Amino acid sequence: MKNQLKVENISFNYLNKKILLDINFEYEDRGVIGLLGPNGSGKTTLMRILVGLKTPKTGQVLLNNKSILNNRKELVNTVGYLPQNFEIYNYISGLDFLSYVCDIKGLNNKEKKEQIDYLVEKFNLSSVIKKRFGSYSGGYKRRLGIAQAMIGNPQFIIIDEPTVGLDPEQRFEFRQYLAGIGKESIILISTHIVEDISFYCDKIIILNQGKITFDGYRDDLIEIVDGKIYEGIINIEEYDKVKENFKIIEQSGSERGKVKLRVICENNNISDRFTKVKPSLENAYVYFQGR
Ligand code: ADP
Repeated sequence: MKNQLKVENISFNYLNKKILLDINFEYEDRGVIGLLGPNGSGKTTLMRILVGLKTPKTGQVLLNNKSILNNRKELVNTVGYLPQNFEIYNYISGLDFLSYVCDIKGLNNKEKKEQIDYLVEKFNLSSVIKKRFGSYSGGYKRRLGIAQAMIGNPQFIIIDEPTVGLDPEQRFEFRQYLAGIGKESIILISTHIVEDISFYCDKIIILNQGKITFDGYRDDLIEIVDGKIYEGIINIEEYDKVKENFKIIEQSGSERGKVKLRVICENNNISDRFTKVKPSLENAYVYFQGR
């Protein structure tokens, strides 16, 4: 069955401060939506509204045509959420916590055992699962958090900064895993790690100061920036001058005394030591942020 997520006219204020302004987007079927934006742009607030933890000032969130806000109890099974700072009581074991979440989601004993065994194996938690949460490293805490979000095979999964706290190998494994479940559910992740986006995101939404500034597919984002990115190697003494005239979006060391730069130039008016290059997703994202 196709899943459908519809976000309609969501706005949110803290006192008089506008945090989200008229957020609209929709997504059908399955796949991973990447929510990008600088700190303070409203990503966490939006995610908390999407899972029904916060009530918006206006608008509604529909999952398969049912309002998440009016059907929180019924939809507890269909939604999985991992907040950015996942913490539970230190004295509870991972196993007891997963079992508790299974109970909340109404799983019977057989389903509970199957789910927990599957998730413990999937996230390599067997060495710690019976130990108290307080003894877990940051990586294990994160993995337990991800496991609990997956309980009950939710159709809609929201993860705030999924790969933070994971080491490079776990990060790679987790990305593969997420790409796998993205084939069955709608997953929305917030991240500022562009590698996360390029690995598995189908759709990208960029949030800036509470407004959506881009909503589309990865290739569309790159296409908008295509033709505006140049690369060149300059002497280090020329750096300040280049910086004065162009926005530098990427920089790496080159030979001694030289530096390799990528810059934005919208009008072709640039020294011929710079050549036009195909923008990376990261370049496109930085370009968008600067607008
Ligand atoms: P992001 O997740 O993109 O970093 P947030 O949703 O956490 O953004 O925050 C959006 C804005 O809301 C920020 O300006 C932040 O300062 C403000 N904000 C967040 N929580 C509160 C709160 N409890 N009270 C007042 N302002 C808040």
